[in-house]
Amino acid sequence: MSEQLIFKKGAPGRKAYSLPALDVPEVELQGLLPKELIKDTPLNLPEVSEIELIRHFTNLSRLNYGVDLGFYPLGSCTMKYNPKVNEEAAKTPGLMNAHPLQPEQLSQGALRMMYELEGFLKEIGGVDRVSLQPVAGAHGELTGLLVIRAYHEAHGNPRHKVIIPDSAHGTNPASAALVGYEAVVIKSSKEGLVDVEELKKVLDTETAAVMLTNPNTLGLFEKDIAEISRLAHDAGAFMYMDGANLNALLGIVRPGDMGFDVVHFNLHKTFSTPHGGGGPGAGPIGVSEKLTPFIPVPTVEKDGDRYYLDYNRPKSVGSVHAFYGNFGVLVRAYTYIKKMGAKGLREVSENAVLNANYIKKRLQDYYYIPNNVPCMHECVFSAKYQKAKGVHSWDIAKRLQDYGFHPPTVNFPLIVEEAIMIEPTETEPKETLDSFCDAMIAIAKEVETNPEIVKNAPHTTVVRRLDEALAVKKPNLRWKK
Ligand SMILES: *Cc1c(COP(=O)(O)O)cnc(C)c1O
Repeated sequence: MSEQLIFKKGAPGRKAYSLPALDVPEVELQGLLPKELIKDTPLNLPEVSEIELIRHFTNLSRLNYGVDLGFYPLGSCTMKYNPKVNEEAAKTPGLMNAHPLQPEQLSQGALRMMYELEGFLKEIGGVDRVSLQPVAGAHGELTGLLVIRAYHEAHGNPRHKVIIPDSAHGTNPASAALVGYEAVVIKSSKEGLVDVEELKKVLDTETAAVMLTNPNTLGLFEKDIAEISRLAHDAGAFMYMDGANLNALLGIVRPGDMGFDVVHFNLHKTFSTPHGGGGPGAGPIGVSEKLTPFIPVPTVEKDGDRYYLDYNRPKSVGSVHAFYGNFGVLVRAYTYIKKMGAKGLREVSENAVLNANYIKKRLQDYYYIPNNVPCMHECVFSAKYQKAKGVHSWDIAKRLQDYGFHPPTVNFPLIVEEAIMIEPTETEPKETLDSFCDAMIAIAKEVETNPEIVKNAPHTTVVRRLDEALAVKKPNLRWKK
C-alpha cells in the first residue's frame, strides 16, 4: 500500500511528454540572462515515462479515502454521495466564469439562481428570509447570533447569555462566546433530551437565545420542542436551531413551524456538496420575520423580471464574507434541490432515518445503546461492553479501517461514555449497510476472543496510529529521509 517517491522511479533521459520539433531559432541563454542566474548543473527533476507518472499519482490518490470509494458513516457530518450532475452544473461557463463585480445586467442568471435557492431554503426551513452569505455551519451560527444580538440591541438590551444543552456540537458554545454571550449549559434528561425543568431554572429576560439541535446529537427528536419554544418566546428570547444536519427533516417538518427563529443550513452536508478536508462549504441562515431587517447585505431581490442586489438595509449586521458567499457551493446545492424536488427530498429523509434504524437494530445486541428508542438519521452506541476488555471506541473505529470502512465519529456527543456515532445517510444500499454491520459484529467478537488485534489496529493502512493531537498541531506534510 505504500508508494515510492517519484525521484526513485524512472531512468535518465526518460520523459513523460513529447514536444513538436522546435520551429524557431534556438537562442543562446548565455548573454541573455545575468550570469549568476544561470545554473551550471541541471535541475534534479524526476525523469519518468508517462505511464510511470500516471501510475504514481493514481497510486497516491488511492491512498486516500472518500465517499466515492466506500462507506463513510461519520456521525454528524452527513457524508452522502454527491451526484456528479452537481459538478456539471457548477462547470456551466456562465456560472463558473462569472465575476463577482460583473454588472447586474450581465449577472441575471447567477442572481436568479441565488434568488431561487433562497426560495427553496425558505420553504424547507419555514422561514421569512435567507442569507446565503455564511460559508460554513459555524459561520452561520456566528451570523445568526449576530442577527439576534442586533435585534436585542435595537430593543435596548443585548442580553447576556445563550442557553445550550450539554449534547450540543462544540461550535455552539464557541459561537455564542464569539458574539459576546455567556454559554449557559443545561444537562440533558435521562432520555437524552432537553430537560424542560432545567431549562426553566436558567431561562430569564437576560437570555438572548436558546440554541438547540433537532434532532439532537444523539439522533433523537426533541419531543417537547413546542413547549420549549413557547417558554423561550415568553422570556423574550429567540430560538436558534443548529440545522447543520437536516437529513432527518426534509419535507417532513420545518424548523420555523417548531418555533425556531433562526436556523443555519449546511449545504455541504444535507444538500450534497462535497466536503471534508476543510471546505469549501456554505452555511446559509434562515430567519423569522422579526429578524429579517438584520440579516447580512447584500440580499438578492426581484423587481418584475429583473434581479438585483440590495445593499441598502440600514439595520443589517453588515457583510460576513466577501461578495455573496461560496457561489460554487450554492450552484451545487441548487442543482441537487431542483433535481430531487419536494418528493425526492422527503424520500431522502425517510431513507436516512430508515437506514440509521436498520443499523441500530442489527447492532443492538453487540453494542450498548444509551437511549434505546427509535432514532432519526443517526444512531449513537457506546463501547461500554468492550471497555471491560480494555478496548475503547477509537480502537473499534481504527479496526473498521482494516475492514475497508471509514471510521465513524467517536467520543461525541460528549455526554455518552465511549460514544460511537453512526450516520449511514440515505444514499447507501442495504448490501453496504449489511457488510458494515457484519464488520462491526466481527469486531465485537474479536474483542471477546482477541482484543489485542483491535487495540493495535489498523493493520492494513499506510500509516498506523498517529499521535492525533500532534498530527493536528504539527502536521508532518513533508517527505524526509
Ligand atoms: C458540522 C456541524 C456544525 C459545524 O459546521 P461546519 O460547516 O463544520 O462549520 C455545527 N453543528 C453540527 C451539529 C454539525 O454537525
